[in-house]
Amino acid sequence: MRDMIKKTFVLSFHQATVQQPIAYHLIKDYNWIVNILRARITPNQEEKGMLVIAVQGKRQEIHDGLEYLTRVGVNYQPLAQDVVWDEQKCTHCTACISQCPTGALSVIRPAMEVTFDKEKCIACELCLKVCPYKAVMMRI
Ligand code: SF4
Ligand code: SF4
Repeated sequence: MRDMIKKTFVLSFHQATVQQPIAYHLIKDYNWIVNILRARITPNQEEKGMLVIAVQGKRQEIHDGLEYLTRVGVNYQPLAQDVVWDEQKCTHCTACISQCPTGALSVIRPAMEVTFDKEKCIACELCLKVCPYKAVMMRI
């Protein structure tokens, strides 16, 4: 669909917000398709809770959901980082393939060449940890 967009956000919230069914409302009321990438959901006095989520939805509903987050006191930041694949550095060792949850990094068979589809990448960084040649990097 043309007005569907994909975004990655870092949500941070205080202890008081944890009990609220925020994810439920985002999914039910704003039709967000939510994939939780990272979570630290036990905030204490000093530390805020944190969620990194990849979201798909209609542009207007994403916008409305973000307004809802503001109303309930959840801060959000778009993840401004982008993953870049350097074809020159890649040795096609395939170490990253099983780590990539979305198939953004995949193998073309039978040539066994690795390829990168930026549209599928959710910037989870899992491939960065396993690539021995630093062929995948974050661009800030
Ligand atoms: S960051 Fe790496 S592992 Fe994560 S989705 Fe993108 S290509 Fe796949
Ligand atoms: S782990 Fe690195 S070098 Fe190996 S296939 Fe993936 S991107 Fe290429």
